Amino acid sequence: MKLLRSQGWKHVRTRLTLWYVGLLAGVLALFWGFSALFLFYQLRGQLDHYAIQDIETVEGLLYFDSSGHLAMHEDYHNHPESRQVLERLMEILSPDGTVLYRNQRLGNQSLGGGPAPNEGQNGYSPRSARLADGTPARLVSRRHTLGGRDLLIRLAYSELPIWSRVKELGAASLLAVPIALLLAGITGYWLAKRALAPLQEMARRAGQITSERLYDRLPVPDVDDELTHLAGVFNNLLARLEQSFEQLRRFTSDASHELRTPLTSIRSVGEVALQKNCSREEYRDTIGSMLEEVNRLTALVESLLTISRADAGRIELHPTVFPAMDLAREAAGLFEVLIEEKHQRLTVDGDETATVAADRIFLRQALVNVLHNAVKFSPAGGAISVLIRREAAGWVCVEVADSGPGIAPEHARRVFDRFYRVEESRSRDTGGAGLGLSIAQWAVREHGGEIEVIPAPQTGCIFQIRLPGAA
Ligand code: ADP
Repeated sequence: MKLLRSQGWKHVRTRLTLWYVGLLAGVLALFWGFSALFLFYQLRGQLDHYAIQDIETVEGLLYFDSSGHLAMHEDYHNHPESRQVLERLMEILSPDGTVLYRNQRLGNQSLGGGPAPNEGQNGYSPRSARLADGTPARLVSRRHTLGGRDLLIRLAYSELPIWSRVKELGAASLLAVPIALLLAGITGYWLAKRALAPLQEMARRAGQITSERLYDRLPVPDVDDELTHLAGVFNNLLARLEQSFEQLRRFTSDASHELRTPLTSIRSVGEVALQKNCSREEYRDTIGSMLEEVNRLTALVESLLTISRADAGRIELHPTVFPAMDLAREAAGLFEVLIEEKHQRLTVDGDETATVAADRIFLRQALVNVLHNAVKFSPAGGAISVLIRREAAGWVCVEVADSGPGIAPEHARRVFDRFYRVEESRSRDTGGAGLGLSIAQWAVREHGGEIEVIPAPQTGCIFQIRLPGAA
């Protein structure tokens, strides 16, 4: 009652117990039904057996007296077996249905009415019948010939003792079954509660985990079962969430930091210019350097936008098939002015026939970012080369080699991380925010390819972009 009042049935353990008790009750009811049937038929079979034996005894005791009436030897001394059949219900008919004999126990009652066709002819024809007073009886019939006359002997046992045995079984079950169900319910509830206790503990702990406590983990039970698996899966999910949150937090703070630098620079340049009387030329310089910072800001915001759209999976690629050499020439063409200014030399060579199937805009962006670094970091008068070649298994490799300071092995992997710069100063001067290579890596991977840098400190470095070739 208390459970139901507190809506306890909504608990899994209560529902489990109810199901369990309900099923057990069903099984017990079935078991009781089968037992009662079995007992009934077995006892009735025994009655049939006794009745057949008794008929055989009766056959030996019957005789016609001197006046032609059918009679039965009932003297105990000469026929002790006669005692036994006195207890039964007995009727003897002639084939036309005339009652020739009824024993004392039966009195005037009929035992099954007139003879049925072929009754008692082949075997003993056992059947159930009701006496005139309503008593259910088990009746066995048998044809017999005595003194040249045909007789139909019917002998019956009351079925009342069988029914009382079945009722006794019912009464015993009525007493035992509720106790068994109650015990099963209590133990079932206790077991379910025990089995589900770790789940409750997990739910309690999970309820305490907020975005600030993502480092928290669920308790993992010692045994290797479904709950352990659930806790493991949940903990893995928490670990991934924690990692994503951490990445997001780092990204936001890095992005803010990167945005703040050009903004501070714009403000200080502006403030200095306002504080003094400047010539027209000086104002032009001030505005020029402010615009430079604005350009930097615009590039940064564009990169951030690309990254956030890529993270959200909102960038759709539209692949076309084209020679990699075309793309390399197109990207290199964008740096003509810069290369001329720095007196550098940029060469594009390789396999003209190597084609790729890619989104031209995003793949060019990746190559431009790599080339831009090569130009930025190579010294004045330095050489940059782009080489296209086919590789085994149909891969196409675009290799960009420069003559800059190179990248030490310990930085080789990290240069693709967002906002990562090998040396703050190296990039501050050149204006990068550390996003170019991570965007390039995203674009190459989206095309099923890979980008890597071959570390070669002091002698420049080599970036290799590998893409699946197109037929
Ligand atoms: P950035 O926009 O700052 O260049 P990137 O993601 O393109 O950012 O590059 C990350 C860092 O890797 C750079 O800041 C630089 O320190 C290093 N780097 C990239 N390319 C080269 C290169 N060709 N030579 C030397 N260092 C490089």
